[in-house]
Amino acid sequence: MALPVLIMGQSGTGKSTSLRNFGQDEIALVNVSGKFLPFRGKFNNVLKSDDYVQIDNFIKNACKAGKKAIVIDDAQYLMANEFMRRSLEKGYDKFTEMAKNFWLLVKLAEQLPEDVILYFLMHTEDADGRTKAKTIGKMIDEKITLEGMFTIVLKTCVVDGNYYFSTHNSGSDTVKSPMGLFQTDFIENNLKLVDEAIRSYYSFEPPLMCEECKQEILSDGKRTIKQIVAGTQQYYKQNLCMKCFAKLYTADQQKASEGNNGNP
Ligand SMILES: [Zn+2]
Repeated sequence: MALPVLIMGQSGTGKSTSLRNFGQDEIALVNVSGKFLPFRGKFNNVLKSDDYVQIDNFIKNACKAGKKAIVIDDAQYLMANEFMRRSLEKGYDKFTEMAKNFWLLVKLAEQLPEDVILYFLMHTEDADGRTKAKTIGKMIDEKITLEGMFTIVLKTCVVDGNYYFSTHNSGSDTVKSPMGLFQTDFIENNLKLVDEAIRSYYSFEPPLMCEECKQEILSDGKRTIKQIVAGTQQYYKQNLCMKCFAKLYTADQQKASEGNNGNP
């Protein structure tokens, strides 16, 4: 079973932008609204569609091709577009079907390989005093509690022009994450970083260990684990955690400045 993860936030608060650190071939992207990406560069595996059957097939094929991260961007439009298409249909059965269609898409995770993460990027709305994932209203919310289908729900937030994901519940939203997955309440809006953190937390991949302190190397919230290791390899030809790297680096700087003092 794959892991479904929900990333929610208002339009323009850095959901799509959070994809920027993935490599071109690293993700399969379902672009429901068909909009342009808010950064340069592009992904090689993209489906522009709001059709559940097409999306289902695309995701299954992406998994067969070895994709480990699958992103459904603007997922709320799946419901909104179906709602518009069926606006002339009378009766309430259509709402049950709309809820079921979306529910089945989240449930698709159960048929996918265990080390796959299925990300749903969705808008938010305020209802009953809390911020939740946007649906098409009560007719859907009565049938499914969307957030109940996810173990991990993150929310974008913008503070002084900086973009973050909040990782813990504020008391007035539906954010949640397993204990110890994220050490801070806010992390950079970098889905690659989230992806690495989840994979290491659930042991999807063997952890990278620091050769100095023998602890697992974790993201510092700014750099991904791979970026950290690439940097420490370049400087010290070792896999190091940020703490040990900082220690070695500071010691080197000190040596260098002492050396300079000796040679005016
Ligand atoms: Zn270390």
